[in-house]
Amino acid sequence: MTLFVQPRLVNEPFSDPGVLLDFRFGNRALLFDLGDLSTLSPREILRISHVFVTHMHMDHFSGFDRLLRLSLYRDRRVHIVGPPGLTDAVEAKLRAYTWNLLDGRSHDLEIAASDWAEGGFITEVVFRARNAFVRENQQPSEARLPLDDPEFKVVAVTLDHGIPCLAFSFQEKIRVNVHKTRLDELRLPVGPWLAEAKRAVRSGAGPATEFMPTKDRKVVLGELLQSQALVCAPGQRVAYATDLAFHSLNITRLCSLACGADQLFIEGGFLQEDRGLAASKKHLTAVQAGEIARLAAVDFAHQMHFSPRYLGREDELRAEFELAFHGRSVARR
Ligand SMILES: [Zn+2]
Ligand SMILES: [Zn+2]
Repeated sequence: MTLFVQPRLVNEPFSDPGVLLDFRFGNRALLFDLGDLSTLSPREILRISHVFVTHMHMDHFSGFDRLLRLSLYRDRRVHIVGPPGLTDAVEAKLRAYTWNLLDGRSHDLEIAASDWAEGGFITEVVFRARNAFVRENQQPSEARLPLDDPEFKVVAVTLDHGIPCLAFSFQEKIRVNVHKTRLDELRLPVGPWLAEAKRAVRSGAGPATEFMPTKDRKVVLGELLQSQALVCAPGQRVAYATDLAFHSLNITRLCSLACGADQLFIEGGFLQEDRGLAASKKHLTAVQAGEIARLAAVDFAHQMHFSPRYLGREDELRAEFELAFHGRSVARR
């Protein structure tokens, strides 16, 4: 099965958390969290259209500078969404530099920043290179989702980390699978036209929509669906949650966001013997993270954001997480 996006951790688990969602087709990517980006290539960073920041602790936001530096001499727009205070944080970052060399003839870089709180945008700001990154306040949009694309959406919930901390879920609206045997029966070749046809299904195109698999063979969308050469299924879902206290409100909200997801990326960087320490820092232990992943009934759970105090003890963190995820009791609880 071809996945719509290929999610992967930006860093090894003892380093800053973050997930790059690279689209399989099209030159585009999304990023969950904006910590250390030094492992991403400039090409990957320049594909990122939207960044979703959980909160502005340094390990989740310090990568802004690399994103800015690589984007500076480009005509592009990047949108950053985060909890209340994100727009001020972006402005403070931009104000730290001197922009006297920018003017109306500069590259057309536009940074849109939005504060998201409990179901809506509360502040939206644009910073443009051609305006020396002066804050330009916008009327907040009425959007009910942090990102609503014809083919996918990004959903957010607010969690408690001592401060508001967002968790996100990427949801492909419809998954479209190709049945090769049915394609063969129609004497249609595989090729780039299939990506176009899948995109048409996801965006709700009509049955008469035409494709040209070869230069002398035409096919319409209705035929592809009726013959089951293209078959619809629930879309891919990838959830991302980090830096949250282990209490019932957070667990309920996170489970509703991640319920049944194909993949959940979740912090779980403390051993259960240090659960008091994890609680004091409003973080999850590996066991707690594994329990949440089990409750949310996700297919795959990826543990991340290991505390550096356990360097050399990664196996123990992973073992506690796996046992809890698979519903077995963990020693020393
Ligand atoms: Zn934090
Ligand atoms: Zn953190």
